[in-house]
Amino acid sequence: EVLLQAENLSYSYGPGTKALHDVSLSVKKGEKIAVLGSNGAGKSTCFLNLNGVLMPDTGTIRYKGKEIGKKDLNELRKEVGIVFQDADNQIIASTVSAEVSFGPMNLRLSKDEVKQRVEMALKSMNLMMFQDRPPHYLSGGEKKRVSIADIIAMEPEVIIFDEPTASLDPVNVEMLTQVLDEMTRMGKTLLISTHDVDFAYKWADRAVVFAGGTIIADGPVADILASD
Ligand code: ADP
Ligand code: ADP
Repeated sequence: EVLLQAENLSYSYGPGTKALHDVSLSVKKGEKIAVLGSNGAGKSTCFLNLNGVLMPDTGTIRYKGKEIGKKDLNELRKEVGIVFQDADNQIIASTVSAEVSFGPMNLRLSKDEVKQRVEMALKSMNLMMFQDRPPHYLSGGEKKRVSIADIIAMEPEVIIFDEPTASLDPVNVEMLTQVLDEMTRMGKTLLISTHDVDFAYKWADRAVVFAGGTIIADGPVADILASD
């Protein structure tokens, strides 16, 4: 079942620059996709188009076959969540549970529903013991888990991670891998940009490679990484 599709996307941040050109990508439910490519290749810009934070200059985004127009962007953002690379530095609430409840509260869910979602997100990130603590005092790996819990509480279908392995030590990479496996068991669809080829090889079933604002390779991870 195809969930999310980009067709011939192009995007520019300003005149004379093209961050993305002619990007087409089709994401099926439950896939585990590693997104590779050097800095500036267009990965983050593609993610922001896929979740409706940016609108493509030309080309289309489809979710479950439906073309996304201007009025559908909010809906798309609920279905496609992004864990940003520096999200753990942008934690602002005074307690971990307050931080994780921000998103669900913005969805205007009932108090009970917010409480349920926060508990579910904290449990899945093994953060229950920190719920009343100020996030400020947590370790880097723990803050990363809070930033992932933030997104989980929104219950998106597709979760995109922008370079989650960049600031993690091997123990936390292992923890992340367990979290990702749990998400896959929950039926989530995952895209992860990374420079960590070992991680991509071990975790992903498909690799998509960006260069110069476009996709230069897309296929089974073993094929892509073997021919690199
Ligand atoms: P990454 O490779 O980790 O995605 P980038 O270096 O591409 O990181 O971008 C880091 C941040 O800086 C992003 O928020 C991006 O939007 C912003 N950024 C990148 N290039 C520019 C630029 N030329 N002008 C303004 N902001 C930029
Ligand atoms: P990646 O995530 O692969 O590092 P990006 O999507 O961040 O790549 O960047 C693609 C291109 O767009 C780069 O040339 C980058 O400098 C530019 N860019 C990214 N974010 C911005 C921004 N906010 N403003 C201007 N240019 C940007």
